[in-house]
Amino acid sequence: MAEKKYQCIACGHEQEKYFVRMGYDYYKCSSCGLVSTYPFPGPAEIEAHYKRKFKEGNYQLIQKFMDSYLSVYYGFADLLNKRLQRQDRQIMNKKVLDIGCFTGDFLKILKDRGADVYGLELQAEAVEIANRSLDGRVYKADLLKKEFPQIEYDIVTMLGLIEHVVDPLELIDRAVALLSKGGIIMIQTPDSSSWPARVLKAHWPPYAPVEHIHLFSKESLTRLLRQRGFTTIEFHRHVKYLPVEYVFQNMKNFGPEFHRLLNGIYGFVPDFIKNLKLPFYIGEVVVLASREGQ
Ligand SMILES: [Zn+2]
Repeated sequence: MAEKKYQCIACGHEQEKYFVRMGYDYYKCSSCGLVSTYPFPGPAEIEAHYKRKFKEGNYQLIQKFMDSYLSVYYGFADLLNKRLQRQDRQIMNKKVLDIGCFTGDFLKILKDRGADVYGLELQAEAVEIANRSLDGRVYKADLLKKEFPQIEYDIVTMLGLIEHVVDPLELIDRAVALLSKGGIIMIQTPDSSSWPARVLKAHWPPYAPVEHIHLFSKESLTRLLRQRGFTTIEFHRHVKYLPVEYVFQNMKNFGPEFHRLLNGIYGFVPDFIKNLKLPFYIGEVVVLASREGQ
């Protein structure tokens, strides 16, 4: 039987079978490098997966290491600031929409710096936690259904979002439509063209079935942002300073084979090493883009 082929959602070229991981088929576009899982998980499977994850520790893990995780959000805020400063602009009074804002920790940082912040989040528990400090500015709403303020935003951010959805282009199009002229879009996502992805191939931790559906490359992101009129596109390697312990615990979800491999020796690792904050780069990228006419 001939191998099934799929059409790349980013460029329309054919995607070819790349590998099988945990029973899921991965296909890669030979033109733009987008890697996708097929068949797409259904809505019920996706919902059950996130409910289980939220209950089983996704949120607890972030809470336990919140101080460290905040440094990641400060990193995003600083990147945004630098970009604005280069255009002689500042974050003060800018309208920011963070799509998939989880418990709103990134938005809190921007709010403290004077931004006018809004967030969208689908997990009810996360929305409730976010709104304790964001005065009802976080909506339990789908970006595609217009149940939140339909105003022009100066900055739209999607951090760790586009890899999770079946149709990321629809999300990007909607986000772009909400952006003011000269507005900035900031996207953080795994980069399937990064060196860790190329070296680890099927074992690259972001190839996490159900959780991650589309893994973009720099080329695929560049193409789709250009097609939408973005002219100034910059990429940053996303390096996170995190404790060894957090990274080890997180491997249960991302990179279970490494977790199993290290589990035997991890008990012998002294606490001072477990608590050590090291720069981790697993091949994620932050993209900042804007259109002409700021
Ligand atoms: Zn493609």
